[in-house]
Amino acid sequence: MIKMEVILAKMGEVVLKGLNRRQFEQRMIKNIKYRLVKLGKFRVYSVQSTVYIEPEDDGTDMDAVFEAAGQVFGIISLCRAYSCEKDMDAIIGCARERLRGELMEAQSFKVESKRSDKSFPLKSPEISKMVGGELAESFPHLKVDVHNPGVTVYVEVRDYAAFVHTDPVPGAGGLPIGTSGKAMSLLSGGIDSPVSTYMMAKRGLELETIHFFSYPYTSERAKQKVLDLAKLLTRYCGNLNVHVVPFTKIQEEIRDNCPEEYSTLIMRRSMMRVAELAAKKAGCDALITGESLGQVASQTVRAMGVTGAAVLLPVFRPLVGMDKEEIVKISRGIGTFETSILPYEDCCTVFTPKHPRTKPVLEEVERAESGVDFAALEREALENIETVTVTLHH
Ligand code: ATP
Ligand code: MG
Repeated sequence: MIKMEVILAKMGEVVLKGLNRRQFEQRMIKNIKYRLVKLGKFRVYSVQSTVYIEPEDDGTDMDAVFEAAGQVFGIISLCRAYSCEKDMDAIIGCARERLRGELMEAQSFKVESKRSDKSFPLKSPEISKMVGGELAESFPHLKVDVHNPGVTVYVEVRDYAAFVHTDPVPGAGGLPIGTSGKAMSLLSGGIDSPVSTYMMAKRGLELETIHFFSYPYTSERAKQKVLDLAKLLTRYCGNLNVHVVPFTKIQEEIRDNCPEEYSTLIMRRSMMRVAELAAKKAGCDALITGESLGQVASQTVRAMGVTGAAVLLPVFRPLVGMDKEEIVKISRGIGTFETSILPYEDCCTVFTPKHPRTKPVLEEVERAESGVDFAALEREALENIETVTVTLHH
């Protein structure tokens, strides 16, 4: 008798993608397989916008598999389902046994059935009726409520097996990583940029990350913190290159040769230019930052305009319209918050001016930059990038 636990994952927006759909599905399946590498061997395949994740070994930790699958972008909802033979006794037994926990907790239930194997002798409403009757007998505390059930038992009779499961839970949503192209995310050690990185990965971008490091003003531990954050992000983003840029010389040049009131903005523009050079080298078509409107002096409308004007690539700022609390909530949800708040200094905080300009004018900033040969310094910084590949599984 087949009796196996599988995960059924519903594809989200992927199904809207018309002709690209097959490609999206394939990419999502590949991403799921890679996400689960450490958890066992699986058959992963799709039928009618449902992806089936079937363990090939007994004793697979399905709690861990469920959690991991819940982090794969492109899955809108997922549930643990139990497969059994296509036989009413087997189906009822399976539901009674495997869904016991949820049925015990609920006050009311209903059964919904789907029969894609049309040779199965009972029609869907008949299956529901029979399973419902049997479950009501086995769990006398349960009322049938077809409008607002505490739990819904789903029975699906497919070609090679039947499945029973209860209500799905939300998945990670978004689009499969790698289906929207590639971008370079500016990753600091703060709360915001891991969230902005996560959010753009969610829209299907494959990512590289870049970090500006100002040793000895910022310590090795601050760099390690960024690598730790990148490692946490790999659960969602897959493997990540972290390009660590030696930024000390540029910061010192700015401190010594540019008006203090513009120093943060000039530094941010320099970061953007180096990030753009690195992006082009890595085949990335956009930059991502964790800026949020009005959060600090360098994130006013004008300041963002001046920063963005330093580059030609589009700059994605997914947090631009979000409050800090909303950002913190996501940060906690994706598990980066605790690392982000570790108190290591950031290169931006080291050279902070006392009176930064909040309404800068681009031409004035460009004039303020003219005392430094940024092109040469930035080429040098680019050449001295140290790239660390942070992987999900090691
Ligand atoms: P975060 O929490 O991401 O550090 P923040 O609120 O501290 O953001 P800023 O320090 O003004 O804001 O930085 C704005 C954005 O610029 C960051 O979200 C990040 O994308 C980028 N950035 C800032 N510092 C660095 C750095 N040292 N390396 C890479 N990117 C950086
Ligand atoms: Mg910061």
